[in-house]
This record gives sequence, structure tokens and C-alpha cells, in this order.
Amino acid sequence: MKPLVLGLLAIVLAACSDPAPEFPASEQTARQLGKSVETRSPAIRPATPEADHLRAEWMRIEHAGWETLAQQDEPPLEPATAAGRDDQGEMPALGIIIDDLGHNYARGRRVIDMPAPVTLAILPHTAMAARLAKEASAAGRTVIVHLPMQNGANLSPGPGALFADMDRDTFTATLEDNLEDFGPVAGVNNHMGSLLTTLRPQMNWLMAELRERDLFFVDSRTSAQTQAAFAAEEHGVAHISRDVFLDNELSPVALQNAFGRALAEAREKGVAVLIGHPHEQTLAFLERVLPGLEEREGVRVVAIGELLGQGRR
Ligand SMILES: [Zn+2]
Repeated sequence: MKPLVLGLLAIVLAACSDPAPEFPASEQTARQLGKSVETRSPAIRPATPEADHLRAEWMRIEHAGWETLAQQDEPPLEPATAAGRDDQGEMPALGIIIDDLGHNYARGRRVIDMPAPVTLAILPHTAMAARLAKEASAAGRTVIVHLPMQNGANLSPGPGALFADMDRDTFTATLEDNLEDFGPVAGVNNHMGSLLTTLRPQMNWLMAELRERDLFFVDSRTSAQTQAAFAAEEHGVAHISRDVFLDNELSPVALQNAFGRALAEAREKGVAVLIGHPHEQTLAFLERVLPGLEEREGVRVVAIGELLGQGRR
């Protein structure tokens, strides 16, 4: 990694080293004592501009992973010129996942109604999870559990989160509760998890359960040190990893550039996975670019399950 990038990360870490505005000591203490803090509402956090800024910075890292931050200075991609078909005549495939669904019905419904088979990653124990999952399945969309996992920033991952200090029984019981929260699902991806995904024993526990249930795993890659794909491979769990986050930045140019990177990855590897979030800008962007994408860019959007076992992972 470039020294400049390391310096930038050090600055960000230093700026975020005091979590006091958002994470009172009581939360950490309660968790260490084994008490549930997962249902603690984000609404009770003080909404100071400083806290918002810290959270935004951390979420950016949590969602981007370190390696993606390193790409920020890359110039915009040139518009695609050649059609994307490879030598075998196979059109490159792009899987798109929208994470963090379940809190808001209207946003989730817009994902179901996208003019391409976008996958819904729904947070367990959220108000609209069951309704959205049911409607998505009825519309033929793929639904996966967006599994909350401990991050390295001490942010609350939300209800049902898996933590590093859980013993295996607690871990598995919590996991099962999440997997059965809102009806049948095809797979799982991680919400946050920049800490937990780096722990091989916990990833082994997770994959053993997914294997038993024949569920696939999409590694959101919130840490460059993630062990999830290795554990999945060892346990025979179908898996694929996120290539690009669509909306770390929400400006039209940033969205366009990130989407362009995902198309380029798909052309290069045959398949790519793009993850976005239910921001107004993200949904509007996808509603605009997905119609006619195949003809325009030579890349087809497919359900995430179709990507498994294809291309280079
Ligand atoms: Zn998430």
C-alpha cells in the first residue's frame, strides 16, 4: 500500500480514536458483561455534527475496506467502447446487491422494482424485513440476510449482531435466529464485520452453518484481512466477494465512476459484484442506468446466485 494512503488512514484513525461522542463506555462495558446492547436505538445517540462526521468517516472505511480507499485518486474510466462479449461469446455478468434494507418499505420496494434482478440484502429484526422479503420473492428477486457483525470501529452493528466474544453456542444460536427471521433466503452477506470477518474460528462456525443450510455467502470485504472466503472454500460453501462499492461517495460523478469500475471488472473477469445502499441518490442512479444496460455496455445484470461458481472469484 502506498505510504500516502497509509498516512491518510493514520490521520483518519487518529481523528476517530476518541469514540466518546457516539459510544459511551457503558455500551462496551455492557457488551463485555454479555448483556445485549444490539437493540440500542441509533436515535438515542447524540446527533452532533462531530458525531455525524466521525460516523460518516468510519462507515466509509467500514464499507469500503482499506484497499478501495487506495483507489480514490484513480482517474475516471473512459466510456466503454467495445461490446463486452469474451472469446467464448459469454456476456460479462454483473451482480448488484443493495445492502441495509429492512428499515424503510418504500426504498426496499424500489429495489424490488428495479428494471434488472437486483439482490436484496435485508437486515434481520427490522420492521419491514418480512414484508420486503415476501414481496421480493414473489417478484422473483433474490433475498439474502445482511448479517450484522462486529466491526473494528466499535459501531453498533444493530440487532442480531455477531461478536468476537461470543462462545460457539451463543454465536450459532444468534446466527440461526437471524437466518430464520424473515422467511426463506438464498444466502448471506456481512453488514460491517471489519473485525469479525478477520477471525478464522468464527468464520468457520459461520460457514459450517451455511453449508448445512445450503446457503451461499457474499463477502462484502469490509476488511482486507477477511478470512470469510477462505473459510467458505474450506467448508464447501458457494461464495463470491464484493468487487466495488457503488456509493461510498454520492455525487453523480462518483456514482458513475464506481459503476464504471464495476463494469470494467465484469469485462475483465467475466463476473463482478457491486454493492450499494438504499440512498436516494443510489436508487435514482440505478433506475436511470439499468434500463438498456446490456445493449449499451455489453454487460448483463444477473441474480447473485448466477455468479457463483463462474469467473474468477
Ligand atoms: Zn450494511
